[in-house]
Amino acid sequence: MGTSTKAALVKRKLRSSSTRKSKTLLQSHVSGKNDGVKKSTDPFYIKYYSGCIGMPVATGAMIASLALTLTILVGIVVFGVFVRKLKRQFLFSGQSLAPGTMSATGLSYIWDYMTKDGPFVAFVNAPVFPGALSSMFYFVACVPGALLHIFQPDFAKPYKIQRTSSERKVPGNLVRHQVCDTLLHSLRNNFIFAVPGMVYQVIMRGPWMYYSHEHWGNHKQTNATEGSGEEALSQFLISNRICLLHCDGNVLFPNSAPSNCEFMVDLTVCLLVFDLSYHYWHRFHHLSRPLYRYIHRIHHEYHAPFVWVTQYEHFLELMAVALFSMAIPICVGCHPLTEWVWLVLAVQLSVEAHTGYDFGFLDKIVCFKGRSIWGGTVHHDRHHELPMCNFQPFFTWFDYYYETDYNSVSQRRKRRVEKTETKQ
Ligand SMILES: [Zn+2]
Ligand SMILES: [Zn+2]
Repeated sequence: MGTSTKAALVKRKLRSSSTRKSKTLLQSHVSGKNDGVKKSTDPFYIKYYSGCIGMPVATGAMIASLALTLTILVGIVVFGVFVRKLKRQFLFSGQSLAPGTMSATGLSYIWDYMTKDGPFVAFVNAPVFPGALSSMFYFVACVPGALLHIFQPDFAKPYKIQRTSSERKVPGNLVRHQVCDTLLHSLRNNFIFAVPGMVYQVIMRGPWMYYSHEHWGNHKQTNATEGSGEEALSQFLISNRICLLHCDGNVLFPNSAPSNCEFMVDLTVCLLVFDLSYHYWHRFHHLSRPLYRYIHRIHHEYHAPFVWVTQYEHFLELMAVALFSMAIPICVGCHPLTEWVWLVLAVQLSVEAHTGYDFGFLDKIVCFKGRSIWGGTVHHDRHHELPMCNFQPFFTWFDYYYETDYNSVSQRRKRRVEKTETKQ
């Protein structure tokens, strides 16, 4: 055998062993076999569902992912009906859903500025406003984190969560490549996910959803005599049951701001319901091999996240996140101001979770029985480092309950390694 043939053989062996190794790694990564996550800690319905969607092809995985998103969405709608009933009975006696009946509060100034006095009146009336607000705020919220990632200043070094062994700066050309890769991906996704979000808004609220109460009143008077294409469209949507909620356009733009109590309760409900919804979506996308491989793996390409990784994900994942965050406030009957604040808050929290730097304090002070119940940046950063742990986006209790918190997973992994070493 000649030298060149030998070299080719060695090369082929190396390639096949590395492919095998990476396949095993991927498999263990997805199934959780080697990273210490006990599948037995999951209840039956999770194991059953993730087993059912074990389809091998990408299309099947995409259909399964979409089906899971829609299933969770149905759950949100049903839960929303329940919350609205509760709110009417115990909290606001139904007054919060009617225009002009809420008492003036500290939020009135902002509400009036946004809808009556300020320069944003025309802007907030646009049907694309919630989606546009969310997308635009995302790019603004990313600026501080992007500056940290590009310049890597010395003062921020002690706050870096995953430090390189050499503690040296990431080379400039690598940073440039990372920024271009993730930023272009995020821009492309934003255009794709905005469309289904808008369709959903039209279905739930009709095309006029952000017309002001006064505008709608004038509009109706004009239409009563003249009639218009818009009125005909609204009648068409209502009679064909395409528009499902608030189809008369009157209850959408209340004259007053929400009360402080309503604002805080609604914001908390949004936070809790999104946390629950995304936790299960996320969990299934790790437990099911095809869902991880074809959908969620993109988001895990960067093990040490930086700010633009926030929306570096499959468009179906971004669409799921957008649908959940937009559907929840509508379904639980939030005031539009609460809805806008929620959208901004959700983006801010997601961006913070991906900065790679721990400047947060909530996870150090919001504790229960010695454990932090607020996730914060470290919680999600650890998820990128060790993907089979910390599935919850904002809080931590489900991870403790299912024993998928970082400490439990790494301890089980350590014990397994020690056991294997003792056997050898
Ligand atoms: Zn992430
Ligand atoms: Zn993940």
